[in-house]
Amino acid sequence: MRKKREVIPQPKSRFLKVQCPDCGAENIVFDRASSVVKCYVCGRVLAEPRGGKARLLVKEENAIYVMS
Ligand SMILES: [Zn+2]
Repeated sequence: MRKKREVIPQPKSRFLKVQCPDCGAENIVFDRASSVVKCYVCGRVLAEPRGGKARLLVKEENAIYVMS
């Protein structure tokens, strides 16, 4: 049995350029990350999966959407 989900039309998946608030490194985060995203330099958790979409754990000003 499958759960019915609302389908929200999205032209494309997006990527986020997220600057780590701790070390300043820029990380590319997939909009629909299915696992916890950590900074590749210091290991700080930047995003966690939530309902099929990544939830950012940094300030919005530290994240920039980039089209791919
Ligand atoms: Zn970092």
